[in-house]
Amino acid sequence: MEKNSGIYIAGHKGMVGSAIVRKLQQEGFSNLILRSSRELDLTDQKQVINFFEEKKPEYVFLAAATVGGIQANNTYRAQFLYENLMIQNNVIHQSYVNGVKKLMFLASSCIYPKMAPQPIKESYLLEGPFEPTNEPYAIAKIAGVKMCENYNRQYGCNFISVMPTNLYGPNDNYDLETSHVLPALLRKFHEAKIKGLEYVEVWGTGIPRREFLHVDDLAEACFHLMETYHGNVSVNVGTGQDITIKELVEIIKKIVNYEGEIIWNSDKPDGTPRKLLDVTLIHSLGWKYKIPLEKGIKDFYKNKFQD
Ligand code: GDP
Repeated sequence: MEKNSGIYIAGHKGMVGSAIVRKLQQEGFSNLILRSSRELDLTDQKQVINFFEEKKPEYVFLAAATVGGIQANNTYRAQFLYENLMIQNNVIHQSYVNGVKKLMFLASSCIYPKMAPQPIKESYLLEGPFEPTNEPYAIAKIAGVKMCENYNRQYGCNFISVMPTNLYGPNDNYDLETSHVLPALLRKFHEAKIKGLEYVEVWGTGIPRREFLHVDDLAEACFHLMETYHGNVSVNVGTGQDITIKELVEIIKKIVNYEGEIIWNSDKPDGTPRKLLDVTLIHSLGWKYKIPLEKGIKDFYKNKFQD
């Protein structure tokens, strides 16, 4: 990418898209093309056709998606399937039609089989059934990965995709019904502390293990791969380390300095028992995460809730 290349970041207001924008700006890219969902509805084929014809972006980061935590995935099942398929179909196909030089599609580690051996290698994709709570989202995202792969094969495109692990950082979603565990817990513990509540309710059993990556580290990885990687394998992006939800709860409790009780609500689902990515490939491609989990959460908490 040249410093004045037209680079379209789809989903620039979201957690991932906004982190990619910050990274590109830091690197001195001056011709970023940004459209909010109000200005450009990516599920609408006509609008996407007109936008690509008019703007002719040279590079595309496809970070726009309908996303959510375990409960949102399970509740808005049709919507997650429909909207993600429409967004991907429109953006990936128009990127091909309009000769985009390179596109990066953001997939997700939750599209791997529920019982995948750990750590999860890129080659385990489609080797077993999905976790039922996020099957619709997984089906949509896999379609996106396969579009990139097959547009490369049939049309000679240069479309790549990445599989980020669970992310956290600025511009996350804090709605307790639809968010992921890390922002949800920060908010719950913070509010319990401020309001002097005696306990915090946490979902599930605390036994599942998850890997967490700061979104600024992901943006570094996306930039690095966009500059250097060509290939059909959707590259895992993670830290290579995971913790139990119980351990995460303890870290957040300590950072927020909350002294009350914790109540485990086992009526809520645990989801996948473990989701740890094998990061051998991305290490061999020259990227490694930098932000340690406790430091990342501390800074995130300070910026979001304390300033
Ligand atoms: P997942 O990684 O797709 O399962 O999505 P989540 O980040 O939503 O959930 C991860 C794990 O954290 C699951 O085992 C949840 O049951 C657990 N968890 C505990 N408390 C919460 C909470 O308040 N919100 C969410 N979203 N998950 C929670």
